[in-house]
Amino acid sequence: MKQKLFIDGEWVSPVRGGTFPVVNPATEEVIHQAPAGTAEDIDLAVKAARRAFDTGPWPRLSGSERAKYLRAIAARLNERKHELGRLEVIDNGKPLPEAVWDIEDTAGCFSYYADLAEELDRNPEEIIALAEPRFSSKVVREPIGVAGAIIPWNYPLLMASWKVAPALAAGCTMVLKPSELTPLTALELAGIAEEVGLPAGVLNVVTGLGPDAGQPLSEHPGVDKLAFTGSVPTGARIMAAAARDIKNVSLELGGKSPFVVFADSDIEKAVEWIMFGIFWNQGQVCSATSRVLVEESLYPALMERLVAETAKIRIGDGLSDGTLLGPLVSRGQYEKVLGMIERGRAEGAKVAFGGKRPAGLDTGYFLEPTILTDMNEDNFVWREEIFGPVVCVKTFMDEADAVRMANDSRFGLAAAVMSKDKARCERVARAFRAGIVWINCSQPTFTEAPWGGYKQSGIGRELGRWGLSNYLETKQITSFNSEEPW
Ligand code: NAD
Repeated sequence: MKQKLFIDGEWVSPVRGGTFPVVNPATEEVIHQAPAGTAEDIDLAVKAARRAFDTGPWPRLSGSERAKYLRAIAARLNERKHELGRLEVIDNGKPLPEAVWDIEDTAGCFSYYADLAEELDRNPEEIIALAEPRFSSKVVREPIGVAGAIIPWNYPLLMASWKVAPALAAGCTMVLKPSELTPLTALELAGIAEEVGLPAGVLNVVTGLGPDAGQPLSEHPGVDKLAFTGSVPTGARIMAAAARDIKNVSLELGGKSPFVVFADSDIEKAVEWIMFGIFWNQGQVCSATSRVLVEESLYPALMERLVAETAKIRIGDGLSDGTLLGPLVSRGQYEKVLGMIERGRAEGAKVAFGGKRPAGLDTGYFLEPTILTDMNEDNFVWREEIFGPVVCVKTFMDEADAVRMANDSRFGLAAAVMSKDKARCERVARAFRAGIVWINCSQPTFTEAPWGGYKQSGIGRELGRWGLSNYLETKQITSFNSEEPW
């Protein structure tokens, strides 16, 4: 485990020399002291990224040359996926197979953006048709400059890749600030960047606390673009900081995503996708379908099957064989989620399953998978993101009722619908006010497809070619092509 920051191609101790503890959420043991970067380290990192962008080779390389580095990073990630997966487990708590899957996806993200970097060479400019024949115009795309990335703890390395891979593909340089709850694998990524010979200053990794390292990064005048994933309140702070220098900003924030299940659905399939939609990664998923809306006639049978299957979920240390649900990421998150369940109950919700620490697991931030029912639409748990393995289930009368309830939220990240009626699925999918919609499933995520939210769930889209556009400026070059005077 790395004990230094990675700045300008060198491993350096934080200027103020501080550290912060990293805790394994399954055992509550301190497993590492990570370097605590502060404003001074951020300043050094941004200046290194600035030099690498303004005078270094990186933005001047062809897309195909940059792609070679991205592919080399992807290859090393794949080679080390089991080792990196174990680091994610002791840092974040998720079950090992999910963690290894995350690393494979991370590697896939670097390979995908390597392809797009090559494509930049194939389509270097676009000719624009003008109504005025004496002029010709073309559009070229250029890297935006120095990007600052601030990421959360739920998918530590995967969230890093959603920003680092397109930024590097575009020719940007970057300062990455991982979450203080899960700093381990971002530093390993820096090690991989060093191994594959990425030029100094192109990728800098500064670990540290949000106010001490994240905030100075968001306020630094040397940063051209801020890419943030995290909570709405922090997103609002980042946006305010970005406003000061009119920095380009993209935000991937929270959600309270609905899953509408019509009565003609296959119950077993519905139960399977509902559970995947909320219990995967302990429900610490921005797009988790945490509000389930079930057509009234299906409700009793569906609830019976949902409770029965939820009771079978094996809870334990993510490193133990057969674990399906690990601990929550931290004591703070554990207490927050328990507190929200209590508040929901106080406001009238009933606990159909779970809601407490599992018997026999006295150490670690373990919580039973939890099903809440009978809440009003103004209940706190129906409205607010819990970010834990807690699903709220309500009934609806008809399609219009379902769509109204689904859209009645300040969030709009994701939504799902299940029915055998294809036309109805398509209609409801269009009616959802959300950036990601699943039909007859919940959560499958593809590097090629755009990711991001409506309303308070964020601004902009990551992944796919939209993710690359986040790091590209658009320049028009217009020529006067006539001998005649203008
Ligand atoms: P958070 O907002 O607490 O922290 C996110 C990051 O911001 C961390 O690196 C943190 O250190 C940093 N930070 C904290 N205060 C800061 C400040 N004042 N200035 C700059 N940076 C600061 O969020 P979290 O608890 O790590 O993550 C959970 C949230 O992230 C949930 O709301 C979840 O929905 C959201 N999320 C969204 C997506 C998405 O794609 N939309 C993906 C994952 C998580």
